[in-house]
Amino acid sequence: MNWYTYAANNPLRFVDPTGKTYEDFEKEAKSRIEQHNQNAIIFSALKGSTFESAVETNISYRDHLAQSAGGTEVAKAQAALKMAGYDLGSYGTQGDGIDGVKGGKTTKAIRHFQHAVGLEPTGNLDPKTIAALDLAVQAGFTKVQLVELGKVLGHGGLVRVNMPLPKDSKRYKEFTPFLDASVAYKFNAFVEDCQKAGIPLVVSEGFRTFAYQEFLYNTDPDAAKPGTSPHESGLAFDLDWKPLTKGQQAALLDIAKAHGFLQTVMPREPWHFGIKADWNYYQFKREYNSQDWLENSKYLTNRGDKYNE
Ligand SMILES: [Zn+2]
Repeated sequence: MNWYTYAANNPLRFVDPTGKTYEDFEKEAKSRIEQHNQNAIIFSALKGSTFESAVETNISYRDHLAQSAGGTEVAKAQAALKMAGYDLGSYGTQGDGIDGVKGGKTTKAIRHFQHAVGLEPTGNLDPKTIAALDLAVQAGFTKVQLVELGKVLGHGGLVRVNMPLPKDSKRYKEFTPFLDASVAYKFNAFVEDCQKAGIPLVVSEGFRTFAYQEFLYNTDPDAAKPGTSPHESGLAFDLDWKPLTKGQQAALLDIAKAHGFLQTVMPREPWHFGIKADWNYYQFKREYNSQDWLENSKYLTNRGDKYNE
């Protein structure tokens, strides 16, 4: 399945920014496991051999990998993350990052995994996370697939949005028409409502990479320090505010509020809209989306005019 198309056609699959709809992940994983089993039954019937479940094979491969580090709970989690393609460094006797020690890289990988599947990104190996890792192994999810699934389910990752961009802006704007999945579908609905209300909406900024924020910081004394802008989390956007009449501004504010967007840098930046979130949440999204961007940017052209589907 093409997750992007699926997400684009499911604007109602929005969940709130706390990103906790683990049940949706569970459903997807179970249907995938079921599919694997069906395929294995058909395949073995055709070959005249005995039924061998891909699901069981995956689990025993994980346990085999975990053996090199004593087969502990941490080693099993590391093996599961490794199989999905998370970077655990080159620790351990096999140099594959599986060493049974829950260090920085493992904790980071756990947080990213938790976020993709709709669990709170604590980095802890709690029972729910262990169960989710089991499911991911059985379903054979790769990290890339987990991130894509997270976008569909609204947990996170960058989603291309319907952003009415300025036509003749001289400003540097690469990458703008993207926002975090948790707000992307709300944003699209916001744009649509503004257009219905006849407000000449122009949105000039969305997600920013660290590099782009650095560029702004070096050229504009008012720009936020790289690493501190909510734009880097994909949770904020800027619009052309001044050209709007007072009446249009008031109407726009009502529509924005109805979709959960607020002017969060007042009174200095009335054009800047975002959601209310704590610093940790912004920071986590920033890290997650930068990673997502780095891994997917090769598919994107300048200004996101084309997304490779
Ligand atoms: Zn802004």
